[in-house]
Amino acid sequence: MLSFLPRFIFPKITDIAPEFLAERGIRLLLMDFDNTMLPYTTDVPEQELLDWLERIRRGGIELCIVSNSHKSRVPQFSERYGVACQTHAAKPSPKGIRLAMQRFGADKTQTALVGDQIFTDVLGANLAGVTAIAVRSIHNHTILLKLRHIFEVPFLAMAHRRRVKP
Ligand SMILES: [Mg+2]
Repeated sequence: MLSFLPRFIFPKITDIAPEFLAERGIRLLLMDFDNTMLPYTTDVPEQELLDWLERIRRGGIELCIVSNSHKSRVPQFSERYGVACQTHAAKPSPKGIRLAMQRFGADKTQTALVGDQIFTDVLGANLAGVTAIAVRSIHNHTILLKLRHIFEVPFLAMAHRRRVKP
């Protein structure tokens, strides 16, 4: 479905509880990388993120990074912290999202994608038919990202009005 509206909104990725996902039948959480898990400015994750990854896994939810990035920092993170990843995902194309779902044998109803960008992550999730979860960008560090966010604001406001907050 071509939609820019997330189903759920959280301030940050670590606010998503495994129980919240499990209650909705989600068993695979796909994660955008840049500005959702880590800012562009560092390759070292916060302890809070590592603790959260562990908490999600213990809750029986599988995790896979789905990133448009072509940089080595994503596979490096993946290897170092033992989180699966799908790079070159080309979101909003559903291609990379579907590949990740196939890897884990999960269908649309069992999958959610969390990301900070309406025009790549939320749209991509909706086109693939999986649950779209929006989080605030960790760090809008360039003018370009700040400008893009201005265009995202109406969609986020609309989603809030429709009370899709958890
Ligand atoms: Mg991002």
